[in-house]
Amino acid sequence: STFQDLGLNDHLLQAITDLGFTKPSEVQEKAIPILLESETDLVALAQTGTGKTAAFGFPMLEKINIDSRTTQGLILSPTRELCLQITNEMKQYGKYCKGLNVVAIYGGSSITDQAREVKRGAQIIVATPGRMKDMIKRRLVDISKIEYAVLDEADEMLNMGFYEDITDILSHTPEDKSTWLFSATMPKEVATIAKKFMKSPKEITV
Ligand code: AMP
Repeated sequence: STFQDLGLNDHLLQAITDLGFTKPSEVQEKAIPILLESETDLVALAQTGTGKTAAFGFPMLEKINIDSRTTQGLILSPTRELCLQITNEMKQYGKYCKGLNVVAIYGGSSITDQAREVKRGAQIIVATPGRMKDMIKRRLVDISKIEYAVLDEADEMLNMGFYEDITDILSHTPEDKSTWLFSATMPKEVATIAKKFMKSPKEITV
């Protein structure tokens, strides 16, 4: 299939052409139609390098309302490097989505600068769990209206001891959001998170 077949809008298709992506990867082919067609939770077993960022990124960019400045999408990732990488990818994918503001929140860098960026209005926040929790506690971010939450590399986040932080962060989000969990492996801890925070998720494996 092609990206057009998957039902992506012209702004995204133009960005995809610019990036030189010729056809969807397997995880994209499986995840994108599910996420575009329904407001469902999703558990995706996918390694890094499979194109999973676009598999959740394209549907999120398609679904959020860019005319609004409310934070609608939250992507949690285990490390600062990954957080910056995802942010950069989302900005490239959304380069023709006028008014889009994707903000990265991570430790080891000025919290004041990050808070200022958030305050300008970020439809999408990409964050590491520790700094995110800190900024929620200090009321520097508001995730009470998010519609989409992504737990990226969930197994890694749990390995790194972020269970409590993730629980705390998700407790500040609406019940009726959609949650999309991506993980390379499915240890007991990931299954527990899925069971605790997700409602009959669809499942895909690549
Ligand atoms: P990820 O697994 O999301 O880290 O993606 C791995 C790399 O593959 C990134 O550099 C993406 O830009 C690239 N990529 C993602 N989707 C495609 C695609 N459909 N065709 C070619 N490259 C892609």
